[in-house]
Amino acid sequence: MEEKTGINFDRYDNIPVETSGRDAPPPAADFAGLNLPEVLNQNIQLAGYAKPTPIQKYTVPISIAGRDLMACAQTGSGKTASFLLPMITKLLGIEKPPPARKAYPLALILSPTRELTSQICNEAKKFCYLSGCRPVVVYGGADIRDQLRDLERGCDIVVATPGRLVDLIERGRMSLNRIAFLTLDEADRMLDMGFEPQIRRIVEGEDMPSHRNGSRQTMMFSATFPKEIQRLAADFLYDYIFLAVGRVGSTHENITQRVEFVDDHIKRDVLQRLLR
Ligand code: AMP
Repeated sequence: MEEKTGINFDRYDNIPVETSGRDAPPPAADFAGLNLPEVLNQNIQLAGYAKPTPIQKYTVPISIAGRDLMACAQTGSGKTASFLLPMITKLLGIEKPPPARKAYPLALILSPTRELTSQICNEAKKFCYLSGCRPVVVYGGADIRDQLRDLERGCDIVVATPGRLVDLIERGRMSLNRIAFLTLDEADRMLDMGFEPQIRRIVEGEDMPSHRNGSRQTMMFSATFPKEIQRLAADFLYDYIFLAVGRVGSTHENITQRVEFVDDHIKRDVLQRLLR
């Protein structure tokens, strides 16, 4: 069945998902099996999602069970909903901060770019509909005054690029000491863009609650899992479950890919040899 998004999600059922880590809760078969609050089920219906993607089937039960998670997954896998749904579920049970000049968000989502932060916030608005949770987006390169006004109207979930968030903290307009749920999206891209110092300052150097005593739950998403990401995961996550999600349309196991570097002047000869 073709979904509204134009993505054929039936193909997803064949995507391999691997988990490792202590006592991973089993995946759910469908949205009903995720046992989400009614308001979220209604918003999932409004979004036109018929069934969860593999990453959602795995990630939501793990996160609702209170576990930290490191997921290797690409854009297009449905990863945004896979962290928003458990995040909003958790926030429904927490008293919201009243609107004020200084924001005390309950959840923080860090992402590398203006485009991705806006996309995540739009998705968050869909799922927060009639839930009493208010998401706000902040990113660099845009007038901070508009963003400050938006924050003053109330902010339960902040979706931010790291640089702009540090700016808001330095201006005394945001505290992280009520953060109960932290998500790092596209962590490898954030590191490629040189955001590690800001990310470490946000997570370890300000007033964010520690993950060690259970007062903060954390999820990290990254397309790749190099050493630097493994180090971040070790520092930011507690007793976490690792999840690797395959890719739609990735190379079939019977096809071997080979990369050959060829000088320009012999390219034609090499191509002819390959085609013979
Ligand atoms: P993402 O990987 O989070 O960027 O999601 C890719 C696209 O798939 C977005 O347009 C989502 O709105 C859509 N999407 C995510 N989960 C589902 C689902 N369970 N059913 C249908 N569409 C979905």
